Amino acid sequence: MTNILVVEDEPQILRALRINLKARSYEVATAERGVDALAAAARHLPDLVLLDLGLPDMDGTDVIHGLRGWTEVPIVVLSGRTEQSEKVRVLDAGADDFVTKPFSMEELLARLRAVQRRRDSAAEPGAPVGAPVVIGPSTVDLLSHTVTRDGSGVRLTRTEWAVLEPLLRHPNQLISIPRLLSEVWGQAVGDGGLLRFHIARLRRKLEADPQHPVHLLTEFGTGYRFVPGRAAVGPAGS
Ligand code: CA
Repeated sequence: MTNILVVEDEPQILRALRINLKARSYEVATAERGVDALAAAARHLPDLVLLDLGLPDMDGTDVIHGLRGWTEVPIVVLSGRTEQSEKVRVLDAGADDFVTKPFSMEELLARLRAVQRRRDSAAEPGAPVGAPVVIGPSTVDLLSHTVTRDGSGVRLTRTEWAVLEPLLRHPNQLISIPRLLSEVWGQAVGDGGLLRFHIARLRRKLEADPQHPVHLLTEFGTGYRFVPGRAAVGPAGS
């Protein structure tokens, strides 16, 4: 059974959520204010949090920050605010997904299941990387933590390794900014700008043309993706 904490101050929505979640065998705890949500999370240790952004006593983003101080529980945000910048702000704060009001119950339930599945598979270690990974002119050995480029050793900082490893262990997969932040700094709170800084440094050290990366790719506003392989010989086609 999945324990879910539902944080919502509108009685009708709260009631509908409670009925529908219980019908799907969720164990439901509820809170109507941010301060109660934080207390309830500490008390119930939920498997999943569904969080309304507009609460009477605080902004839902502050609830996310409060939770991310000590737990990696998946958080799905419910909000009437639809701007892209708002979504990015909430995901950067450490939420796992964002559902816009008004929402369909079926879609919301599907998103909750998806977030749980993602979290369950993320909890398993990535495929062990035995063979060295080729990034254009560079070869990265994750076992010995060494990098060679054109026959010479390249030194990466501890943070650069921490950013690079999750990407290399999941080739071709989009790794979201919150997930990368939490892998590197232990919590999904923080500034995507710091990640951009380290990714830029990794490109300078590893990519043939850091200004036009072909292996360490940015998915704008969402995350990063590692595409393996040796760089094509000769000038780039575009
Ligand atoms: Ca509200």
